[in-house]
Amino acid sequence: MRDDCINWKYSLDRNGYAQLRCKRRKKSTRAVRVLWEAKYGVELTAEQHLLHSCDNPRCINLDHIRVGTHQDNMADRRERNPFHGERNPMAKLTDLQASEILLDSRTSPHAAEDYNVTPQAIRLIRQGRNFSHLKEQGMQPTRVQARRGRA
Ligand SMILES: [Zn+2]
Repeated sequence: MRDDCINWKYSLDRNGYAQLRCKRRKKSTRAVRVLWEAKYGVELTAEQHLLHSCDNPRCINLDHIRVGTHQDNMADRRERNPFHGERNPMAKLTDLQASEILLDSRTSPHAAEDYNVTPQAIRLIRQGRNFSHLKEQGMQPTRVQARRGRA
């Protein structure tokens, strides 16, 4: 996994994380937050932390990043609650994919095809029954267009 890391070549903060000066915020921010927000078009709240699955603070590969809370971050360091999100061995989807599904405006069957899971799995995420921690962090599903009649 570490081989796939994209190491930030610019400045690092004092904890060794890739940092970026952002005009909008007028102070240095972790580079992954800026990249993540740009990619998904959502603004992270202060409670939403981006966690590195690769434990490499210089890494800016978004595939190695997932959204979690400060508590998750601590839990990660302490080592692990086996039934939380992607760490659940039954879960096929990663937290990042689940957040993409929440933000995906396509219908469940369409999204299901893409993620290679059942439409039911997509619905459970959108209803907040699975990966409920994402919703608790304020991540809201994009409203799926109700289809009237047949196209
Ligand atoms: Zn990495």
